[in-house]
Amino acid sequence: EEMASTDKLTGLLNRHAFAILTAKLLAEHRREPKPVAVLLADIDRFKEINDRHGHLAGDAVLEAVAQVLQRRLRASDLAVSWGGEEFLLLLKGCELDEARRIAEDLRQAVAASPVAAGKLAIPVTISIGVSQFDGTESMDRLIGRADDALYAAKQGGRNRVDLA
Ligand code: GH3
Ligand code: MG
Ligand code: MG
Repeated sequence: EEMASTDKLTGLLNRHAFAILTAKLLAEHRREPKPVAVLLADIDRFKEINDRHGHLAGDAVLEAVAQVLQRRLRASDLAVSWGGEEFLLLLKGCELDEARRIAEDLRQAVAASPVAAGKLAIPVTISIGVSQFDGTESMDRLIGRADDALYAAKQGGRNRVDLA
């Protein structure tokens, strides 16, 4: 069951498990509306890290970033391995302003934790897009809006947080 629901490298939830939880989450929300925020985080210039230090070091970076994120979340939050070097975090009971603060905290934590790979300490940063559930939209749209904000964060110079 754990193998089916988690990402092998990072230990975070995989997309499939998240899709199943999503239906439950939206049903819960209909019964008892509470704020929900989505953070979409993407490692900056990850291709460069792979090219410069090799794929194994890249994998070590993915594991380390996943750990930093996971450790700082609450038990009720969901952390998902979203793509190769993308992470989706779903925060329950969290208004946009608090979500922005948490995203900023995560961004700083990653930037302050270079990843040990052999004798190297590889500096890593992430960009994060944040969106707040409007109560009626689909999960796809909620995540799409976080993705747009993430795109803006990349355009804005990376290593930063942008709001939808
Ligand atoms: P940006 O700051 O715009 O996000 O640049 P980027 O280089 O991070 O983004 P891009 O999408 O160009 O590259 C992502 C790279 O992530 C490409 C691919 O080689 C690498 N990648 C994806 N999945 C994995 C994985 O599981 N392990 C490793 N080591 N690399 C991966
Ligand atoms: Mg990416
Ligand atoms: Mg990237």
